[in-house]
Amino acid sequence: MFHIAVIALGSNLANPIEQIQNAIKRLNTLPEIQSMTVSSLYRTAPVGYTEQPDFINAVAIIHTTFSPYQLLHALQDIEQQFGRERSFRNAPRTLDLDIIDFSGEIYNQPELTLPHPRAHERGFVMHPLAEIAPDYPIGHFGNAQQLSQKLGNDGIEKIM
Ligand code: ATP
Ligand code: CA
Ligand code: CA
Repeated sequence: MFHIAVIALGSNLANPIEQIQNAIKRLNTLPEIQSMTVSSLYRTAPVGYTEQPDFINAVAIIHTTFSPYQLLHALQDIEQQFGRERSFRNAPRTLDLDIIDFSGEIYNQPELTLPHPRAHERGFVMHPLAEIAPDYPIGHFGNAQQLSQKLGNDGIEKIM
């Protein structure tokens, strides 16, 4: 049984473009991920805590046999392998992998909230998602195209 999931990738330390490219390669090696569609890479201005380098962001849509928690734990393992240190929310990081949506399922636990509770207000997630799946619905907030238009593209630049 396959599920469709959306993963957001972000990095702003230690050659972020390479971090994102290597994270995509790493995800592709997982046998539980059968297919993957990846957006372009975007350079985006930091949000929240702004005294830090720009981010490189991308989004991937996967077909997976993982359950939501299995996927979360696989992503956390990869973050660790990429040298992620947990400091504070919105802190600079070598790699951040968030689950934006998992087949429309709704989870309300602190360890796993689905759809991701802040994704619909983040241009750095909605713009790359709209590029590869404009019709993708984010909970009751609308689809990726509608949300990215509403948010605008200030501070978001497609780079490759
Ligand atoms: P934000 O969630 O606002 O993007 P962040 O990515 O910086 O912030 P982290 O420190 O990476 O936050 O994660 C904090 C916790 O969020 C993790 O321990 C994880 O269990 C939890 N979490 C809840 N929902 C999700 C989700 N949909 N995807 C990834 N992590 C989640
Ligand atoms: Ca995040
Ligand atoms: Ca995260």
